[in-house]
Amino acid sequence: MMRSVAIVITSGALVTEVMWQLYKVYKCSRRKTINTVNGCATQLCTNTEAKIFEVMFFSKDSTLCRTHLGLMKPCGRLNCAVRHLRRIVDYLDSATDTLDICVYFFTFSDLAEAVIRAKKRNVVIRMILDESMATNDTSKLKIFYKEGIQLRSKQLDTLMHHKFVIIDNKILISGSINWTKSAFFGNFENVLVTNESAIVKPFINEFESIWSILGAITTQANSIKT
Ligand SMILES: [Zn+2]
Repeated sequence: MMRSVAIVITSGALVTEVMWQLYKVYKCSRRKTINTVNGCATQLCTNTEAKIFEVMFFSKDSTLCRTHLGLMKPCGRLNCAVRHLRRIVDYLDSATDTLDICVYFFTFSDLAEAVIRAKKRNVVIRMILDESMATNDTSKLKIFYKEGIQLRSKQLDTLMHHKFVIIDNKILISGSINWTKSAFFGNFENVLVTNESAIVKPFINEFESIWSILGAITTQANSIKT
């Protein structure tokens, strides 16, 4: 009798284990991998769309990647700055509806060109920059203005020190990095990219808040209009 009970219990446990393993296989079959960064696959289970959780780091070694920036091809470095730059450009090039840019300082031509490409394919672009951009020689403000991009710059005493971009209200690019060549190729910086709505939505709200606080383009920006 006891032996029969033991066999039944063992059999039940085996069936349960087999079912659990089958369930895990089923769940994994529904996973999508969207990015592999630094050798770490970022996978999440989802029934609708692949999740993006991408982290980029820049360091002193990023200066070494300046040499192959012109080719826009990554090197073998773990944190190749050109590879990171290409990823960000690719995200910008993927915009189909909107591009909300809130960056303290923006002088990097490769990124400015991606923004202008978006404008040319009728993506609605709103840009918030610090007003110091208006007086900087390397500023792309004049180009953005000429392209008809909506611009608002700081009019308050508080520094507009954010560095984030929202693509199509779905993808957030945020981090420490200013959009300057020197920041990409010489600083310790970080960038996070995600489409996790719980993170993206507060940034959308923040953008809308600052956009409404700031007036239309400042006197300084208007003064450089040609
Ligand atoms: Zn490199």
